[in-house]
Amino acid sequence: MSESKDFLRTIVEEDLKSGKYKEVITRFPPEPNGFPHIGHAKSICINFGIAKDYNGHCNLRMDDTNPTKEDTKYVEALKDAVQWLGFDWGKNVYFTSDYFSKIYDYAIKLIKMNKAYVDSLTEEEIREYRGTITQGGKRSIYANRSIEENLDLLERMKNGEFKDGEHVLRAKIDMSAANMKMRDPLLYRIRHAHHFRTADDWCIYPMYDFAHCLSDYIEGVSHSICTLEFENNRDIYDWLLDTLELKLPRPYQHEFARLGINYTVMSKRKLLELVDGKYVNGWDDPRMPTIAGYKRRGYTKESILNFCDQIGIAKANSMVDVAQLEFCIRDDLNQKVPRVLCVLDPLKVTIENYEGNEEIDAPYYPHDVPKDGSRKLPFSKNIYIERDDFMENPPKGYFRLTPTQPVRLRHGYIISCKEVVKDANGNIIEIIAQYYPESKSGADTSGIKVSSAIQWVCAKEAKTVEVRLYDRLFKNEAPEGLEDLNPDSLKIIKNAIIEPAVIIDRIDERFQFERQGYFYADPIDYTNEKPVFNKIVGLKDSWAKKTKKETAPKIIDKPQVQKVQVVGEIEALNEEQQALFDKYTKKLQLNNEVSNILARDKDLSNFYKDALAVINSPVTLANIVVNEVARELKQTEISKVKFTPIQIAELVKMVDDEVISSKIAKEVFEDMAKAGINPSKIVEDKGLVQISDPIIISPIIDDIIAKNPDNVEKFRAGNTKLLGFFVGQVLKTTGGKANPTVVNELVALKLK
Ligand code: ATP
Ligand code: MG
Repeated sequence: MSESKDFLRTIVEEDLKSGKYKEVITRFPPEPNGFPHIGHAKSICINFGIAKDYNGHCNLRMDDTNPTKEDTKYVEALKDAVQWLGFDWGKNVYFTSDYFSKIYDYAIKLIKMNKAYVDSLTEEEIREYRGTITQGGKRSIYANRSIEENLDLLERMKNGEFKDGEHVLRAKIDMSAANMKMRDPLLYRIRHAHHFRTADDWCIYPMYDFAHCLSDYIEGVSHSICTLEFENNRDIYDWLLDTLELKLPRPYQHEFARLGINYTVMSKRKLLELVDGKYVNGWDDPRMPTIAGYKRRGYTKESILNFCDQIGIAKANSMVDVAQLEFCIRDDLNQKVPRVLCVLDPLKVTIENYEGNEEIDAPYYPHDVPKDGSRKLPFSKNIYIERDDFMENPPKGYFRLTPTQPVRLRHGYIISCKEVVKDANGNIIEIIAQYYPESKSGADTSGIKVSSAIQWVCAKEAKTVEVRLYDRLFKNEAPEGLEDLNPDSLKIIKNAIIEPAVIIDRIDERFQFERQGYFYADPIDYTNEKPVFNKIVGLKDSWAKKTKKETAPKIIDKPQVQKVQVVGEIEALNEEQQALFDKYTKKLQLNNEVSNILARDKDLSNFYKDALAVINSPVTLANIVVNEVARELKQTEISKVKFTPIQIAELVKMVDDEVISSKIAKEVFEDMAKAGINPSKIVEDKGLVQISDPIIISPIIDDIIAKNPDNVEKFRAGNTKLLGFFVGQVLKTTGGKANPTVVNELVALKLK
């Protein structure tokens, strides 16, 4: 259990202390209409985690009340996911459908209490009669039916005498309730459909609001934990259990924030669309945010559990950066998996002055990993290196092989380039090289200086492997539809070559291919004859740099990196870095990812410290330092950058004081980096001051509302997601200068 208690555990503890419950019973109640995703992992961790922490029990319950969408294959996927994450639901998996008879009896009881009635309005009329947020609803004339008539009609609905939609059963609550959900909610609807468990036994199915609270009650659940969108349903939950006068103890509902992750979609409905449309290769496609997808990609359960623990439990919805999940898997594998050599895009190298064969003893793990094991790396005259580890006309700061710069073969010798062989089109097809016999790794007496070590594979002993490189499924942070799919989310390399031990000894399922990333032997397609590896994650967050890469020369290693043997590898933090990391996370409340970046980079952390001495705003400042400042330092030495920590502090202060938005801050930074001008001067000259005055913002909003009557109507009908649309339009119109907080409030007010 994490040391600081979340609000749900606080509630549970209070309930146990006051004697409200003898035992904590939670449940995880998915609808089996798709594979579970990482959001479900969060819910699983919360429900099973709380039960475990307080010696209670968590039921796995399939909420199978919608026969047309559900299937046993999804039940199996849900069970797999819970099991894989290491949780135990005990002897039975529960199904809401097991309670159909009991739920039906409760419906009869409600009718007899004159608290429910059969309504025969059409779906459309029901919607119309419900009213709006500002206007109360109108009760259906059918609400006056006698108890006998209602009992008779319900029974005949059950017996299949009516068509779908002809009647519904509704609770008789309050058609003018402020909470619209309480305006006589539907309890049962007619569905002549085959159910995957109850077959054709039923032609009426209970609605979520009716089935859920009763299933919780029947199972003796104490804490019914769900996501925030059910907040308004809580009144129905309580009304039903109270009205039915059920014996105590009864369950209570508590809500927490849903997990959202950027660069993907999450709802099962949208994921199903990707599967059905063959945009991905099934539910377990390694690009999917499903638990089966992560599992097949090579994520460990530890990394997922850790992630869920890190993001915590809150009551405010938020978007988590997928980089945080990637950090968790890297962090886990860094200490666990063997490191080997694989070449994805081979370039032939012939070592002119080497004859014969040898085997180089190479450890699988670095010194700071408490694991042993090594293999033999065959070495001979002909080897392959990565194509982009050689450059004929390198830019400044390129540390690998060039016509004039030697390089070390990882674990092996230093080589230098003697000749570049090209084909008729001028493409490099081979390097003729020379090796230095005295330079062998670990026994180097050659005195030759190199700045980097590269991976290589002996041509004679090389094994061919298929490597599947996965990238983010969507190219946009907040994808809106299929048009946002990332066309490069899967790249298959058929003929990568790898050192033989990986295939022959297979000491693990997961490997670090040095300087490339972490890889996993595909659990389905891998065979000894045709090995297949999935890329789990790169060694560092490459996405952050991507936009820059397109304009900059192909690969520029960061000039300050002086760790000779370890270019591209992630090492454990040293003592000093660890101390910084702890200070950042514990004292300054920075998140792990940001803290990790800062702690590992001396220039950055010093810069951060200097700026922090000027302005006490650790979080905003850290964000600018690890993003903007770090990006700049990748291209320019720290002594040559045009801005100072004091100027960055000034920039942060303007953001904190809401003089400018954080979006505009990025724009200002670009100018600071180019010209070394004070941020306040840039803001003044370019007129970038944030607009917070409602008098200026108001007419802009009115204009946008007037231009989008359809969306206004949809919003008022309950599609609250459209709030973001309106806010976005205002920000766009003002070139990002409108204060988002003010805009949000004003838009909400005007759309009410
Ligand atoms: P989806 O929209 O993806 O189908 P759902 O909420 O309909 O999700 P259910 O199968 O009904 O999915 O959910 C089972 C449990 O998982 C519920 O308690 C639900 O609140 C929780 N859950 C679903 N999505 C998330 C999420 N993104 N973050 C946290 N919990 C979630
Ligand atoms: Mg759903």
